[in-house]
Amino acid sequence: MNKILEQAVAKGKKMTALGRTATYIPELGHVNKDYLGVCVCTSDGQYYKCGDADVRFTIQSISKVISLAVALERCGYERTFDRVGMEPSGDSFDSLVKLDLTSDYPSNPMINSGAIAIASHLASEVSFENMLKFTRHLCMDDEITLNERVFHSEMGHISRNKAIAYLLESKGILENSVEESLKLYVQMCSLNVTAASLAGFGLVLASDGVNPVTEERLLHSWVVQIVKTIMLTCGMYDGSGKFAVEVGVPSKSGVGGGLLSVVDKRMGIGIFGPSLDEKGNSIGGQHILRELSAKMKLHMFADNVPEF
Ligand code: GLU
Repeated sequence: MNKILEQAVAKGKKMTALGRTATYIPELGHVNKDYLGVCVCTSDGQYYKCGDADVRFTIQSISKVISLAVALERCGYERTFDRVGMEPSGDSFDSLVKLDLTSDYPSNPMINSGAIAIASHLASEVSFENMLKFTRHLCMDDEITLNERVFHSEMGHISRNKAIAYLLESKGILENSVEESLKLYVQMCSLNVTAASLAGFGLVLASDGVNPVTEERLLHSWVVQIVKTIMLTCGMYDGSGKFAVEVGVPSKSGVGGGLLSVVDKRMGIGIFGPSLDEKGNSIGGQHILRELSAKMKLHMFADNVPEF
């Protein structure tokens, strides 16, 4: 395993110069784009790490997976999907075009409009402190905290998400005020995790919602099924289809450079690589996952994936 990880990181490293950090949140622009690390957490609870797997970075959009899971647990299937769809949008994560012109609700919970709607539902159900506590359990990492600098940096440059939130409000989709909904949304995006925390979370999802080490059930089976399916179809922004064909592992990326992947019954994978492609996905991270999928036969529909 260690050898495979080393080779994958070495290959990924060659690609980091081609991308850029997400400067639209100024604090993210200060991160060294050459960071690259991976962590695999296998079903026996063993962690395998290579590169910058213990460097803290903000979870960003990967928190959308946690918020969706909590919303399903607390509000149920009907109420959660009452005002958020489950179809890929084909647009960028921060788009408001379809929401304005062709649909009265966000396409899915993995884009900003969908996640802000979910945060608005959650704001009356659960405090940020409890969301943080639950995130620590899910990631098997007690050291996750709020990154205040990134939180304030994003809150200071929130115009686009504010526009989305007001549009949602105008369509009667928000359950709480624009301010409360955005605050919880940005707080969740600003949690400091590592590649290892994401690997731990991935393993819980790969284990049907149970922490395999303590055997504690953290999420219902039906919730995990929904979350993993939506990760497969919508988790890599508008690059989700190609990624599913080539890698075949449900994944979610974030503009902080994180990648969370779930290999059912086998392992969770966490990656940190803040150099992003034009769609907002980690360039080095995608190369690592391609390599791991081919070498360890991780594709959910194929034993041997051809070279694409
Ligand atoms: N906090 C970021 C935003 O709302 C999250 C985006 C992402 O990671 O895709 O723009």
